[in-house]
Amino acid sequence: MKPTSEHYDAIVVGAGPAGSTAAKRLAQGGLKVLMLEQRTVIGRTVQCAEFVPLAISRHAVLRACDIAQQVQGIKTLINGEPVSTLHAPGYVLNRVLWDEYQAQEAKTAGVTIKGATRAIHIEGTEVTLVSGAQSWKMSAKYILGCDGPRSIISKKLGNEPQEMCAALQYEMMLTKPLEHAEIYFDPAYYGGYAWVFPKGKTANVGVAVHDSYRNRLKPSLADFCRKIVSMGVIHAGAVSAATGGLIPAGGLVKNLANDHLLVAGDAAGCTHPITGAGIMNAVVSGHLAALAVILQVNSNGREQVSKSYTRMLLEEYGTQFTIASDRLMSRNQRWTDNPEEFSALIRRSWIAFPEYYMQ
Ligand SMILES: Cc1cc2nc3c(=O)[nH]c(=O)nc-3n(C[C@H](O)[C@H](O)[C@H](O)COP(=O)(O)OP(=O)(O)OC[C@H]3O[C@@H](n4cnc5c(N)ncnc54)[C@H](O)[C@@H]3O)c2cc1C
Repeated sequence: MKPTSEHYDAIVVGAGPAGSTAAKRLAQGGLKVLMLEQRTVIGRTVQCAEFVPLAISRHAVLRACDIAQQVQGIKTLINGEPVSTLHAPGYVLNRVLWDEYQAQEAKTAGVTIKGATRAIHIEGTEVTLVSGAQSWKMSAKYILGCDGPRSIISKKLGNEPQEMCAALQYEMMLTKPLEHAEIYFDPAYYGGYAWVFPKGKTANVGVAVHDSYRNRLKPSLADFCRKIVSMGVIHAGAVSAATGGLIPAGGLVKNLANDHLLVAGDAAGCTHPITGAGIMNAVVSGHLAALAVILQVNSNGREQVSKSYTRMLLEEYGTQFTIASDRLMSRNQRWTDNPEEFSALIRRSWIAFPEYYMQ
């Protein structure tokens, strides 16, 4: 085991959107920051459908090359029938490029980045790290868990494993360009939905289901691809990329921070329980986590980091996520194969319909 040498004010675990944002803000606030990433290349492999609202540009820099395509909004189909077009403009990103750039911005702000380094254990303010055959410990006054849905820092804070959806996605060739992101609800996709998010000539085509149905993902995605081939949306045949992963669906975790540990992004349950959208929330929560730390440092401890971060995150997402969790739970309990009942159920529980907001 290598001995600890350098000391940092903050260690950020995970170089996704939450981690890079938090690390950059902390460094801009004058802290000495180390960001760890288990992957060798930041942002690879992308585990995401890459759709973000336009509003993300208020929170993070997007270069032209980070945007694969702009979309006008979201088209919703239930049982194969188009039933709503929501004007909600957004971008489908090139996340490989964008994630890499977010980390680059953190580095420019003064953050030290260590790739291919995995945090395996947290004890107090000490992190045990592994890189190849080497293992060593480092400590910092603050440890920020931006380590995704299976966060070890969230576990250390005493949180139970989160409610999850499991997702599988292919990149496929479109038959013609699409102006909207498309969402497909079908009784076969229990607890989730299927999507086509266009990226010019290709699209991210995927299915997410409740984690307990993850063994049905592959046949469900094959079935979905067959359907949209017959509808003329995509060409049959070659899949240029396959990916997947877990999407938190239970709302904010109970314990967001203590006096030296904080979680942000997926690690904090910042994904919208109904839509699964988590990129912008990861950026926003990363920013708030850094702000809470800087507030505590600048007030000489008078502003307690756990109190201020919890307050800020609840103000931002508390009500919105509570409503979404309720709708999701109620939908999953009433899930049905009956087409009329299914359609009514989705209308009460999907953000594109007025019924969602009326209960
Ligand atoms: C298939 C799929 C499709 C999705 N589509 C969308 C979408 O269209 N729009 C949207 O807004 N959201 C989408 N999401 C959700 C979105 O991807 C996440 O909410 C977002 O990436 C969260 O950012 P994050 O920084 O919290 O976590 P992540 O992006 O998961 O980053 C966490 C980082 O931490 C690293 N890490 C983990 N553990 C350790 C460790 N112990 N030590 C060191 N490093 C570690 C990981 O390698 C990773 O790089 C999708 C998710 C999936 C799985």
